[in-house]
Amino acid sequence: MVCQGMDIFKAPYKPAICDSHMHLDILEQGHPEAIKRLVAGRCLCISWAWGQQIANMDDLVAYLDLQAQTVRNLREKGLYCFYLTGVHPRNICPDLVAEKLPQILLPRLDDPLCLGIGEIGLETGKGPEKKVLAAQLDLAREVFARNKIIGIHTPRMNKEKTARTLLDFLDRFVLDRKKVVIDHVTPRIAGEILNRGYFAGVSLCPGKTSPIELLTLCRDQWEHLDRILVNTDCGNSFFDDLLRLPSMDILPPQTLARTSLGNGLAFYGI
Ligand SMILES: [Zn+2]
Repeated sequence: MVCQGMDIFKAPYKPAICDSHMHLDILEQGHPEAIKRLVAGRCLCISWAWGQQIANMDDLVAYLDLQAQTVRNLREKGLYCFYLTGVHPRNICPDLVAEKLPQILLPRLDDPLCLGIGEIGLETGKGPEKKVLAAQLDLAREVFARNKIIGIHTPRMNKEKTARTLLDFLDRFVLDRKKVVIDHVTPRIAGEILNRGYFAGVSLCPGKTSPIELLTLCRDQWEHLDRILVNTDCGNSFFDDLLRLPSMDILPPQTLARTSLGNGLAFYGI
């Protein structure tokens, strides 16, 4: 019998932390040394789809293939990781035909390493963004039937306004909100998202959320603590804020355990 190497579907370690939203393909290219830090820190990584330099549909499909393959390669190197597939609003190319998205995305959902669709959402809310988002949300039933999830992006610019437009837009779809995370939330929009029953993702990195802001957000939303997921959203830069969070002694132990690991395991069904 030919030896097939290690079983990439087996967990290589018991995770100490879960980075619920990051971009492994971009990180590995620019910061290959970061992968060793993640393995050493026993980090479980969920890599969301966001390609760079996508000019057309061929680029997009090639990117999604590469993204899935990167997760397989990194598993062979001992990193515990999964991915989400999908079309980020900043990856909408001129020749994208929304009607073709089921054909592109559905087969990927059958990969055991693919945990759902993301990163999808609105960046400006203009042009074809809503049509592309709708085409992906129309796959929700297929996603939930496979016990998988949907990961949604909110933009840095006009965050509150665009997040409200997004929430109203999501109301048009039949969504199991316990299986949808809305990411990059700020203290100002977290309550609205959590009150509606969604998970809220908090990106712990310079320019997004600091550990102290995370503490404030968790205190404000203590009754929804089981639906807050911390991540780094790292890709072009490597942020180790989440890896260092336990030693910073900022969050109470239970809050830390839930938001940086337990909630992620429960949400992603790992
Ligand atoms: Zn992202």
